Amino acid sequence: MTEKKTIAAISTPMGTGGVGIIRISGENAFEICDKVFKSFSGKTLADSEGYRAHYGRIFDGENAVDEAICIVFRAPHSYTGENVVEINCHGGIFLTKKILRLVFENGASPAAPGEFTKRAFLNGKMDLSKAEGVMTLISAQGEQGANAAYNLLEGSLSRKINEINSSLLSVAAHMAAWVDYPDDEIEEIDENNLRSTVENAKKEINTLLSRFDSGMAVTTGVDAAIVGKPNVGKSTLMNLLTGYDRSIVTSVEGTTRDVIEETVNLNGCILRLSDTAGMRETGDEVEKIGVDRSRKKLERSAVIFAVFDLSRELSEEDMELIELCEGRTVIPIINKTDLEKRADISVIENKLGKCVAISAKDGEGYDELCETVATLIGTKDFDTSAAMLANERQRICCETALASLNEAFEAIDFGLTLDAIGVCIDGAIAALLELTGQKASEAVVDEVFKQFCVGK
Ligand code: GDP
Repeated sequence: MTEKKTIAAISTPMGTGGVGIIRISGENAFEICDKVFKSFSGKTLADSEGYRAHYGRIFDGENAVDEAICIVFRAPHSYTGENVVEINCHGGIFLTKKILRLVFENGASPAAPGEFTKRAFLNGKMDLSKAEGVMTLISAQGEQGANAAYNLLEGSLSRKINEINSSLLSVAAHMAAWVDYPDDEIEEIDENNLRSTVENAKKEINTLLSRFDSGMAVTTGVDAAIVGKPNVGKSTLMNLLTGYDRSIVTSVEGTTRDVIEETVNLNGCILRLSDTAGMRETGDEVEKIGVDRSRKKLERSAVIFAVFDLSRELSEEDMELIELCEGRTVIPIINKTDLEKRADISVIENKLGKCVAISAKDGEGYDELCETVATLIGTKDFDTSAAMLANERQRICCETALASLNEAFEAIDFGLTLDAIGVCIDGAIAALLELTGQKASEAVVDEVFKQFCVGK
């Protein structure tokens, strides 16, 4: 389905740069661009072959405003599958906006967020999970994340899902034929075969789900909160991990009163790190709000850095923190190893597991901490070439498929009719087709592309 409007947007970031790119896509892309661009060769873009670059000038009426190179892509051999021109002009907010305005004045409409990629999807150039790979790649913050996202773009997830689906589809089709045409000589379904197909699909989906958190950690990042009572060294740790003085460090208790956030890359593991107000009972109204926010952050974060002070005996506040952290994904950190030891760390280790000993002040224990984080979150040996889920939408599709397959298994165990088992398997197939977008509703597709930036 090709939409009629020809759309345009600036595809490079808004800022001063050597080059800025304005992308135009749609049936009239060449004619519209020919109204503002004159090549030095005299050749028009409408007469150009695809995959050709033309050097010339951009005009605002009679006045030349910039020199530019226009690259021509002819449908269907373009990113969107439509006619596309990319105007490569000089970078700069004013200039790129001006050229975009000229393009609008000559017939193009503003592109919505993600509309170029949405058109690529609608024109069959890529499926939904690959389109989401594009978004993951753009926002990747580290080497591992970029590799994993590139593989998504290349279809690592699509291939895996299609593989699972085709095995389910073949048993579903066989079952449907057997149920619908009892008089024909269709071979009876072998229960063992049915079981092993469902079992195998479950295993594959479980593998994808088990890699979800680590996948998110290498691509877009996970929330991590640094918590602890006042003065244990949370802000000093925050500064050590960010590599600069992000948080204020003083020996005055209650200095950090609000949550301070920063994204860090610890050996490929992306953490959206929050330094929180020290948790303690306080009469100070402002500090109280900060302490409440710390508790909320602790509850919502995927990973907790629970910090304790080795140079002081454990207090009631420390014990309370231990309790709050029990059963969570937590790294207990014992700070100030450069000072004399007073805390009994066995109390912490009994409840939260092995402590990482550091001196946030002089950086001792930093490598061990990074190693522990990578092991705990699963980014250490993360295989970026294997299929991974890129977002919550995909995860939910997999959970739905898994639930349907579990129901299929129960239906087999209860000896229900093939009809009933077939309904469960169809449910799993539908969820997986929604993941790849082969059977996603318009609302789902709109939601996916809304999250893209304009120009992509
Ligand atoms: P927060 O209240 O938990 O954020 O603690 P801060 O990071 O503000 O640190 C409180 C005090 O402890 C400051 O005077 C820091 O310089 C000091 N401190 C933090 N980490 C260490 C450390 O590893 N060793 C020593 N000796 N002092 C530290």
